[in-house]
Amino acid sequence: MENFIDGKWVKPLSGTYGDVSNPVTGEVFEKVPHSNIADVDAVMESSFKAFKKWKKVPVAERAKLQHKGAQLMREHSEELGNTLAKELGRPVAACIREINRSADLTDYYTEEGLRLKGEIPLHNIDGERAMIVREPIGVVVSITSFNYPIALLTMKLGAALITGCTIVSKPSDETPLSTMRIAELFSEAGYPEGVFNVITGRGRDIGDALVTHKHTAKIAFTGGTNTGQRIGALAAQHCKRVTLELGGQSPIIVCADADLEKAVPAIVKHTFANSGQFCYRIGRVYVQESIYEEFVKRMTEQTAKLTVGDQFSGCDMGPMISEKMFKPSMEQTADAKKKGARITIGGERLKGSQYDKGWFFPPTIIADADHTMDIMNEETFGPVAGVMKFSNNDEAVALANDSVYGLAAYVFAGELGAGLRIAEDLEAGSVWVNNIQRSYHDVPFGGMKQSGIGREKGRFGIESFTELKTIYYSY
Ligand code: NAP
Repeated sequence: MENFIDGKWVKPLSGTYGDVSNPVTGEVFEKVPHSNIADVDAVMESSFKAFKKWKKVPVAERAKLQHKGAQLMREHSEELGNTLAKELGRPVAACIREINRSADLTDYYTEEGLRLKGEIPLHNIDGERAMIVREPIGVVVSITSFNYPIALLTMKLGAALITGCTIVSKPSDETPLSTMRIAELFSEAGYPEGVFNVITGRGRDIGDALVTHKHTAKIAFTGGTNTGQRIGALAAQHCKRVTLELGGQSPIIVCADADLEKAVPAIVKHTFANSGQFCYRIGRVYVQESIYEEFVKRMTEQTAKLTVGDQFSGCDMGPMISEKMFKPSMEQTADAKKKGARITIGGERLKGSQYDKGWFFPPTIIADADHTMDIMNEETFGPVAGVMKFSNNDEAVALANDSVYGLAAYVFAGELGAGLRIAEDLEAGSVWVNNIQRSYHDVPFGGMKQSGIGREKGRFGIESFTELKTIYYSY
């Protein structure tokens, strides 16, 4: 593959390429450019040139193209889902769902974009007015993580394009192919050259150049907190706008009167999906003491039903994407064991012919955890959860908030009022009470504390791709 610039596949000026491999088998099945700073310059020039025209295109025309792009995603969801499953290792059915959900988000942004408005305050001064207009911010650099390549891209893409921004996508070096294909499909939909470009390569090689380039107006980033902090600091030096969607180690509080029939399957699903490689997964479980042992038993039994294997075999979980992602699961489990925790299921790397070529870690529950253990303090980004006892709700909230992160939190409480009170006290950008629905497209998503800055989705997500301008006039 090559970079996708100006609607064409373009060889990298760097002349170098990196491997894309299947995390289940280790087989290298594609190569993508490892771009350099000269490639960054080329892609930014293309996007800036395109921006000058794209910002003047009527919103209704942009909306037609965007709906067409979403439609093509749906029509190719099986093909895209297969590509995604191959590069990521996640079960293919979930990958196809990601494509369709991302198409829905793209459609949602389209409609919401049609509702963006300015304002004219009524000052009642004869012959004078001021109008407040929204303008597209400019060229947006999207830098995304490997774990949900298309969901993370489309959380930015549709919002940027409908407002009149152009976008340069830098997908993860590990899962770039699905993003590249989406860019090609959008070009087929009729998008003008340069409106949606893709450059591949390693973040450490081209990240700084993308962030600081003179044509970069905003960086919309999803990834680790360390990387986000680095990007945020650099962006601030150059007065670039940012949205940072970063890490988390999300807590759940299970009160004594919770409906465990509902809570346990929801918690297991939200702890182990995508092999635990998602930002707002449950990493810390706080359970009221009177139901603690019963809860641990039920969670362990529910977890035992999960199957791990090849992404095309119909199993529930695949491998971790890489050794780097695998390590925290191993290390946090070992740390907890050393400090006296009880591993009720999992805990060892999976071995045997179907597992030996990938980084497979089983769903793992660490019972009797406490806050001296890494599992309750550090992000795992893997299929391991710590479970800890609490006695009253105030203690539970204090434990849940005892974290540098604040992305998501969860509560199950028989009395809804108690659940809502806990939700109000939790320091997190999103809180789920008494069930864990899919995150909706029309409500904001993002983190408090070190989980990020800004929000994606909803009208809030779109507005962050615009600048406000006040125009005073006399008549
Ligand atoms: P990562 O290492 O921070 O990488 C994310 C992206 O940043 C990749 O495209 C990466 O490129 C790029 N990058 C790396 N170094 C860079 C630099 N110096 N300048 C600019 N870009 C750079 O994160 P990851 O390991 O892919 O993903 C896991 C993390 O993402 C977790 O912490 C998770 O919580 C977080 N995440 C957050 C959300 C959210 O919505 N809050 C969603 C998903 C994931 P390369 O691939 O070339 O390294």
